[in-house]
Amino acid sequence: MHHVIVGNSIAGVEAALAIRRRDAAARITVVSAESDHPFSRPGLMYVFCGQLRAEDTELYDRELYARLRFTRVRERVVGVDVKGKSVRFAGGGELAYGRLLLAVGSKARRLPFAPAAGDAGARGASLADGGSSTASPVRGTAEGDTRADPLHHFVTRDDADRLDAAARPGMSVAVVGGGLVGVEVAEILHHRGLHVHWLVREPWTWPVALDRAEAALVESRARASGVDVRTGWAVSGMRKEGAGVVLTGPNGELAVDLVVAAIGVVPNTGFLVGSGVALAADGAVETRDDLSSTSAPDVYAAGDCANVTWADGSRRPETLWYTARDQGRAAGAAMAGEPVRYRRISWTNSAKFFDLEYSTAGFVPLAEVGGRTQPGPGRWQTWSHVTPDGASLRIVLRDGEVMGLNALGRRWDTEVWLRWIREKRTLRAVLVSLQEARFDEEFTPAFVAPTIGTIEEGA
Ligand SMILES: Cc1cc2nc3c(=O)[nH]c(=O)nc-3n(C[C@H](O)[C@H](O)[C@H](O)COP(=O)(O)OP(=O)(O)OC[C@H]3O[C@@H](n4cnc5c(N)ncnc54)[C@H](O)[C@@H]3O)c2cc1C
Repeated sequence: MHHVIVGNSIAGVEAALAIRRRDAAARITVVSAESDHPFSRPGLMYVFCGQLRAEDTELYDRELYARLRFTRVRERVVGVDVKGKSVRFAGGGELAYGRLLLAVGSKARRLPFAPAAGDAGARGASLADGGSSTASPVRGTAEGDTRADPLHHFVTRDDADRLDAAARPGMSVAVVGGGLVGVEVAEILHHRGLHVHWLVREPWTWPVALDRAEAALVESRARASGVDVRTGWAVSGMRKEGAGVVLTGPNGELAVDLVVAAIGVVPNTGFLVGSGVALAADGAVETRDDLSSTSAPDVYAAGDCANVTWADGSRRPETLWYTARDQGRAAGAAMAGEPVRYRRISWTNSAKFFDLEYSTAGFVPLAEVGGRTQPGPGRWQTWSHVTPDGASLRIVLRDGEVMGLNALGRRWDTEVWLRWIREKRTLRAVLVSLQEARFDEEFTPAFVAPTIGTIEEGA
């Protein structure tokens, strides 16, 4: 059996490993144009800042593929023939498959008034304010791109290399987008010595993950570092002026040398349009929830490009590193003929926004997310507290059992948090044992939680 895996990142490599574990003789080919060695995409910012070398972020030793007899094809796939069972390459030529995994991840969502070359995923994307400009568009980073183009993104290694070449100390930059990648890009460009304007359309930063009080902590830390944070600042157009760009919107105009659009990602699936592999409206590949198949025979999907069902019943990609890993493992097992059900793990993440610690574990929905006011069945409640020295903790409960925790300003042991979630602890049980999950006890003061107090209904 020839297994062809399109995508050489976490979902793709984990699928290849899962197949090899079950089938020593299988022929396995991994296709991607990005880099020969899969690397940590969340680690891109550390490479940009010079804190890590690119090699340090590689997931496995460089001999792995040779040792496990994976064939590596450095090509971009531009078409799939599901009847003839082959993929077509941008550089010409085709490759026949017995089973095909689509692990093509996502790419930066383009600003709607600066469209990139045609792609289903990108076409489905738009800023909710739907603004457009009559000024001459500034092109995105796809075909026709030039090094001099002042519009950037930060999702692929190419994006990072291009920004690295362009961003020089003393320049001004507008980072458009208040999410995780937006805050990371604002931070790394500030670190490099650029004058950073961080433009967030929403009333507060990263509203899908942070509530207003949590976001205020991030914003005040960014401001204290010298970043010009502008919340409620929508961008609806842009025009080139000299070597730079003028951004326009209801709040006025802003002239900068560079723009980094960090307004989310879209599935990398333009080449699948019309192939017979069913895509959702957002461009993601429709999959069964256990990742055992897509709409096309012998075609599987995993990672950022795959649509799965969330706890609230909605279908969308998870776009998280560890879930992409687990999806790759499940899809690989299915390709090797072993029915392994994919189940989303209780997810954790830790990061630092400027010097503000961030930890999250489990499911911590906010009522406003995507207009979904009910995160799922059951009685949802939120308890939260911000300490006078700027640390926050938010605990989400369903039917009295802890579902997730979200914190800023202190480092927490998220493995302990996950255990509490597995144990279905009550709020009281979590609060009395908070110190069990402390990290860096000698350097940071304890988080002192008040008595339980008011619990907000409806998460
Ligand atoms: C800056 C940044 C920071 C992040 N930080 C975090 C974090 O802190 N925590 C977290 O959980 N997640 C984070 N993420 C998200 C996480 O990186 C993704 O969820 C994860 O990388 C998805 O893995 P994947 O294997 O599905 O796809 P990707 O990592 O997107 O890889 C896709 C692969 O497919 C290949 N490919 C795409 N199209 C084609 C084609 N047509 N032909 C051939 N090959 C193709 C690409 O070259 C690549 O090898 C971050 C993402 C970014 C961009």
